[in-house]
Parts: sequence; C-alpha cells; structure tokens
Amino acid sequence: MTREPETKTYLGIPLHRPKVAFFEFTSCEGCQLQMVNNESTLLDFLSLVEVVNFREAMTERSDDYEIAFVEGSITRDDEVLRLKQIRKNAKILVALGSCACFGGVNQLKNRLKNLNWVKKQVYGKHPIESGLVRALEEVVTVDLRIYGCPIKKEEVEKIVLHIALGKSVVIPKFPVCMECKANENICLFDLGEPCLGPITRAGCDSWCPNNKAGCWGCRGPAEDANVAYLKKIMKEKGFSEDTIIERLDCFGGFAHFSESNKQRTQRKKKS
Ligand code: SF4
Ligand code: SF4
Ligand code: SF4
Repeated sequence: MTREPETKTYLGIPLHRPKVAFFEFTSCEGCQLQMVNNESTLLDFLSLVEVVNFREAMTERSDDYEIAFVEGSITRDDEVLRLKQIRKNAKILVALGSCACFGGVNQLKNRLKNLNWVKKQVYGKHPIESGLVRALEEVVTVDLRIYGCPIKKEEVEKIVLHIALGKSVVIPKFPVCMECKANENICLFDLGEPCLGPITRAGCDSWCPNNKAGCWGCRGPAEDANVAYLKKIMKEKGFSEDTIIERLDCFGGFAHFSESNKQRTQRKKKS
C-alpha cells in the first residue's frame, strides 16, 4: 500500500498541492537530474507537489498538471508542436535552466553558418535532425525562469514552496559578486582568473568562485549589467577581448551584449 504524503499546513491552513510535470527538450537533462539527486529534501519537496510526469524518475504519465517545468532548448519542428501542447495544458510554464531560458550551451552552434557541417562534426555517419537553437520564450509564453547550468535545486525548492504558499517569487537581480563577497572569497581576478561575476545574475551563491573557478555567466545578465566596464577591467588585468567574448557567448544569456561586442571587434579588426 502506498502511503499518501502528509498534507502540509501553513498557519493551520492546508497548502494547495499543485500537480507538476517535468519535460525535457534538447538538453543534457542535468537540470532534471539535479531535482532527483536532492535526496536530503526530496521527500519534503514531494509533499509540497504532486508529480504526475517526470520521465527521468517515474513511469506514470498524465496531461493533467498545473505547473510544467520545461528543460532544454528547441531545435526541431516536432519539439515546437510538443511545447505548444505543454503550454496549452499548463497554467504556469517554467523554463528550467539555461538551455530553456537562453538556448544554453546548445546555442553555440547558432554562431556557425553551416549547420550541416556542425551536424557532421557532432554525429558523423549517424546524423539526427537538429536545426537552429531557440529558447522556450521564442516559441511560447514563459511565466517563470529558473536560471543556471545546472539549476540550483535549493532555489527550485524555494520557488515551488513560494508557489504553494501563494507568495511572490523573487529572483535576484544583483550580481554574483555580492554573494561572492558575502562568502568572503578572494576575488578570482586577484588570482589571475577571468570572471563574469560583476555582470551575472546572482542566486547560485557564487557557486564557481567558491570553488576557485571564474563565473561563466550561466545565469545571464544581472540588472543593469555594465558589460563595457567589465571589459575595461578585464583589459586592465591583461585579458584579451576574445576571452570575454568566449565567456559571454557560452550560455546565450548575454547574446545581445556579445553580438554587439563581436561586431565592434570585427569592425576594429577591419580598420
Ligand atoms: S541548463 Fe545545463 S545542466 Fe541544464 S539541461 Fe541545459 S546543459 Fe544540461
Ligand atoms: S571572484 Fe568573480 S564574483 Fe567574486 S568578487 Fe571577484 S569578480 Fe566578483
Ligand atoms: S558562478 Fe556564474 S557560472 Fe557559476 S553557477 Fe553561478 S552564475 Fe553560473
């Protein structure tokens, strides 16, 4: 006999336990894995929500859900149709991770003109259909974005708890540097490493700098991100323009800034 999870209450009021579903498109599925890996709090999380679809974790399937967590970017026509159906079924559609929010690492191939060449390099004699990479919001309306490559499970749980409590969801707008300073890290620039912390949205608790690695901007731009000033700092520290462009390009969150950087660099190179 399966035991129904105990209903959670808040100030004596039973919490609404939303039906949630997890879906993946073009991705490494690492964000979903983060969710199932969270053993210490998994049972608490499952008592907050009723999971009705989660291919990585269960065999049951249902189209009856309120919240759809969607991982991955869109690269094929059949994915467009499937995503539109998910949008139709869900009251709230959440983009889960950098691939879903910005195209993620996958979008790097959009920079190359010949996608057939890319396909050949990646899949050799066993090609699969895979076109230009799109973020979810380029196809459907997205209600909420959970940033990161991968997402931080603690952040997802906090967001789901807020949804269950009917509280507003607040995603940090300030940069990673604020968390990094609070964690009393030595700045990576002082150790000779580049870092996008000054322009990247916080919320990961400065995950990379805590481990002596510079930020690659997986959570996209912080509010009023001053990319030009970061470039100035990086130049003063001896880093090349290519180094910063490589980082800005990596996850797609800085596509706008990066594109303008590239055009400027190309113009400079020509002149
Ligand atoms: S955001 Fe990163 S971890 Fe998540 S699915 Fe995409 S590549 Fe994998
Ligand atoms: S290591 Fe990076 S995130 Fe930390 S203070 Fe320096 S620039 Fe900011
Ligand atoms: S430090 Fe930067 S690259 Fe690392 S997890 Fe945080 S936002 Fe992503």
